[in-house]
Amino acid sequence: MIKVYLRRKISPRVANGHPWIFNNEVDKVDGDANGGEIADVFSYDKKFIGKGYINPKSQILVRLLTRDKTDEINEQFFLNKIRGCWEYRKRLGYTENCRLVFGEADSLPQLIIDKFNDYFVIQTLALGIDVWKPAIVKALQSVFAPKGIYERNDVPVRELEGLSQQKGFLSDPFDTKIVIRENGLKFHVDIENGQKTGYFLDQQDNRRAIQHIVKGADVLGAFTYTGTFEIHAAHYGAKSVLGLDISANAVEQANTNAALNDLQNICCFETANAFDVLKQWGKDGRQYDVVMLDPPAFTKSRETIQKAITGYKEINLRGMKLIRPGGFLVTSSCTSLVNPELFLQVINMAAKDARRKLRQVLFQSQSADHPVIWNMENTQYLKFLIVQVQ
Ligand code: SAH
Repeated sequence: MIKVYLRRKISPRVANGHPWIFNNEVDKVDGDANGGEIADVFSYDKKFIGKGYINPKSQILVRLLTRDKTDEINEQFFLNKIRGCWEYRKRLGYTENCRLVFGEADSLPQLIIDKFNDYFVIQTLALGIDVWKPAIVKALQSVFAPKGIYERNDVPVRELEGLSQQKGFLSDPFDTKIVIRENGLKFHVDIENGQKTGYFLDQQDNRRAIQHIVKGADVLGAFTYTGTFEIHAAHYGAKSVLGLDISANAVEQANTNAALNDLQNICCFETANAFDVLKQWGKDGRQYDVVMLDPPAFTKSRETIQKAITGYKEINLRGMKLIRPGGFLVTSSCTSLVNPELFLQVINMAAKDARRKLRQVLFQSQSADHPVIWNMENTQYLKFLIVQVQ
């Protein structure tokens, strides 16, 4: 049994519920830890704190799985956890698609499971959770009897844990191009080659939030990926919808999705760099009633946070200039290092430069199947803002 004793002076973070224990918070480790084993964690005065998985190769030595001394970490533990995660999502009203497991926010650090109706996509982003992959697959099979389970571990962050990047089937092989339903619409999801796990479930509640403002509107969407926001706009009664993405492949999928919903006459998609095109169209005097922006994360490191701020300011400024007075800007940010206050400040700076006045319609986070845990900064990563632009 591996025992980890913390220093006398550690940040109150661990005591207050945060599951990470950094190397420099540890006084001593009893037992041989190669990585991936379960360790018991104690305070300096030998009070039990919790159990978690250990990896001496990682800066985060232990990630806690439980604070209950009586919990045994075994197959049954993961089965119970996954059942609990599903009960919670059902309670919130999710029936077909949801992020079933959102890592730390579900006390299953570094485990992501997206449920696309009968299909499941898994990411195990740390060694200590990766070793439980067979138990997790078994649990999914027992709770859901899925049509397919796929691993999307083609993520660089795994290398920090000494893990390789990989993807492939964790069930019998199946056709990885599937169709899901969302808010009465249908969308193709490419589980094998799509971005991240194939589809951005974190915006699923937010896509409904545009319902009223797009009625009868000319809508421009940038960073559309497979066209989900734009197709929602057309479905909710927009007059015309144009979606832009820099990836030709994404644009092709977006057009296919428009046709799948018989909205191809309202909704069209083009390949373009949004930064260049929005700037040019501003000069040309083009105008829209609603502009929607959902760019990718601009940075993952604190050192380049200024780059993200500049990017958000620039694209939102360009977007605002294209909006008819009284129209709406629908804008998102998924850079977790840009906190909600900072995001609003950046939008405010953009409005000042664009000489436009804003009236806030709503400001929220990711959809509820990605829980936000208070005092666990990375769990609140998505900012979703709608403002009326005067
Ligand atoms: N709104 C989408 C997710 C967008 S992900 C949804 O809800 O499903 C971000 C997208 O921005 C990606 O598809 C990426 O190809 C695209 N992108 C990145 N840089 C871009 C740029 N400069 N111009 C246009 N699109 C860009």
